[in-house]
Amino acid sequence: MVTYKSSSGLSSIKETILSTIYSRFAKWATSEQFCCKAGCFTCCSTNVTITALEGLQILKYCEHENLTQWLGEQLVKCSLRSAPEQTTNEFVATVLNKQTAPSPYKHVEGRCFFLQDEMCLIYPVRPFSCRCFASTTPCSTCDTATVPDTYLYGSTAAMQIIEHLGQFNSWGFMCDILVEQAHLNNYSKIIKATQPSEQIISAKSRLRAAQPIAGFIFPENENNSISALLQSVFSAKIDSRTVEQILNGEKA
Ligand code: SF4
Ligand code: SF4
Repeated sequence: MVTYKSSSGLSSIKETILSTIYSRFAKWATSEQFCCKAGCFTCCSTNVTITALEGLQILKYCEHENLTQWLGEQLVKCSLRSAPEQTTNEFVATVLNKQTAPSPYKHVEGRCFFLQDEMCLIYPVRPFSCRCFASTTPCSTCDTATVPDTYLYGSTAAMQIIEHLGQFNSWGFMCDILVEQAHLNNYSKIIKATQPSEQIISAKSRLRAAQPIAGFIFPENENNSISALLQSVFSAKIDSRTVEQILNGEKA
């Protein structure tokens, strides 16, 4: 386990909750059989969305691995054009309010620059969107991922909790979050590389604010399985409080 200096703007308790969600979700999902394996990377595109907290963890890891200069060079080349229309929690709120969800953001073509020699350069701190992306059939052969319904509902619920944890900070495409967080947390080599003001202005313009959970969406027949996941995450103890108590703002 790599240790880093503690975050300036985002508290270390949030980092502990984030890693708890990652590990509880991974444990919950062990019953699923996926064909994902090292060296399989069709899914590694620039479409990955993350929270500011996840972005900050990636930046800290890159600093620890002496990768910030390289990361700055990659970010300056990253030319996203479209932005997500809704965060996961905004999408779920729209569905719960029986409104029509906006059409999904335009698919951005391009390989994730963290993919090097067919491996993820930031594997220990890859964001949840990468952790939960999986398929029961090889994506390379059928052009798309195949995911069991239960897994899809469970990963959406976990994503919602991670976004809830990230409230009051940004949510968006990984490139944009990394540019924003590097500037906010004084990563000088990245700031230098992405200095042209248009780049930071353009990255910020595509970001959204992470939203609280308005509810969960899963059919009744998935209740047992998804409730087991939620219970496992919310009941996890961090110091003297459960994750649920911390997320609800209850004092120790
Ligand atoms: S989701 Fe698809 S491309 Fe990604 S590792 Fe699994 S099978 Fe491979
Ligand atoms: S961060 Fe890693 S796992 Fe995620 S898309 Fe990039 S290379 Fe793939």
